[in-house]
Amino acid sequence: MQTLNLTHHISNDQQGLYLLMPFEMPAFTERIDIEYSYPYNHNQPLTVENGNFSSRQRVNRIDLGLLAPDGSQVGASGSSRDVIFVSTTEATPGYQPHPLSAGTWQIMLGAYVVSPNGVDVKVSLRFTPKTRRWLKGDLHTHTLASDGLLPLDHLARHAREHGLDFIAVTDHNQPVKRASFPKIPGLTIIPGLEWTHYKGHSNFLGVEEAYQGAFFTNTDEEVQEKFRQARQNGALICINHPLESSFGFRFNLEALDFDLIEVWNGPMRPKNIETIAWWDQMLKAGKRQVAVCGSDYHEDTVFQRLANPTLNVLAWSASEKDILAAVEAGHSYFTYSPTDLQLDLDVDGATYGVILPWRTGLEAHLQALSLETGDQIRLIDQDGERILLTAPGNGDWETNIPVEKPGYLRLEVWRSFFPGLPMLPALVTNPIWFDSVL
Ligand SMILES: [Zn+2]
Ligand SMILES: [Zn+2]
Repeated sequence: MQTLNLTHHISNDQQGLYLLMPFEMPAFTERIDIEYSYPYNHNQPLTVENGNFSSRQRVNRIDLGLLAPDGSQVGASGSSRDVIFVSTTEATPGYQPHPLSAGTWQIMLGAYVVSPNGVDVKVSLRFTPKTRRWLKGDLHTHTLASDGLLPLDHLARHAREHGLDFIAVTDHNQPVKRASFPKIPGLTIIPGLEWTHYKGHSNFLGVEEAYQGAFFTNTDEEVQEKFRQARQNGALICINHPLESSFGFRFNLEALDFDLIEVWNGPMRPKNIETIAWWDQMLKAGKRQVAVCGSDYHEDTVFQRLANPTLNVLAWSASEKDILAAVEAGHSYFTYSPTDLQLDLDVDGATYGVILPWRTGLEAHLQALSLETGDQIRLIDQDGERILLTAPGNGDWETNIPVEKPGYLRLEVWRSFFPGLPMLPALVTNPIWFDSVL
């Protein structure tokens, strides 16, 4: 944590002015705490018949505000708060959550009342740096705005109660505004839309308006134009449940610019296993395709539940921007629920989604947490698949895996959820890639 202490003298003739105090925001700050203090009162003894009376008179009143590098007002609190904070996702009332970009920020000191001798205002700034953490969420949900059962505020509370850190709202062909989101502490809500056509579904994430006009199109060119606009407007683009028989993706993927493929949609079933295998063929063919999962939640049923599956993302903060950046980069794995089952992979400090130069003697360090008896950890690379471990009991496992050649490496945990029934994937990771060094 970095701190900065500043003192600003305000003279009596500056009373009535708004004064600016610049400071440098360090790069990679997640939260800033600002505390300010100054002598409020002038105390004076008064003569009384018995005892000592000290009369108190307010002689200084200084207001506080904060401006971002572009001059926009992040917040202002008058003289009613001595301590405020702003982070990428939360802030003291009167202030807005704001990305804390590196650069010159300004504290506004309002010289409302200043004593004849002037006043020294002490301002102390505390910068909390970003640290990467695993977050759990779901990027594919529906509400009452399309064919889901719950209104958005109900869905959001449900998500938080379920232990999720983020959700994306992706109603069929229905754009949504951030201003309409309920404020749920600890939950980041991401705007999105499931572009839904008879020939394919695609999530456009992180934008309020992905494209101009209506959703429907009748030609491939118009579809390409929708995707081009979504890209231009900054959407993260995901091809949803591509192999589903009745609502799979039947447009030419080669002609479209997209970021992600949803390889695990809703409860694990043969179609998802087929889709994971199809994606793996792409990886074997050398395409560095990042995958994602989504519950496609509409309502709780025997089969469908929110965050079944759960997207586990290693992000720099819980802001929408940092979550989507981590999703895009593939720093993620998917689990059947918000379970404690976890696979941490570390290769020279890097993890899933990263491209590393390969070298002789390279090793991946794997830590598996909350395995259950009989769980199989499978390693899939450019050459095929092998079982690394069949868990001998409930517990954790740690090992080193040699990376023998360039290519990719990804992991799955398979579990028998019901005695006698076949094993199913309980966890699927994105790959980590290894470049050959010439
Ligand atoms: Zn769909
Ligand atoms: Zn859907």
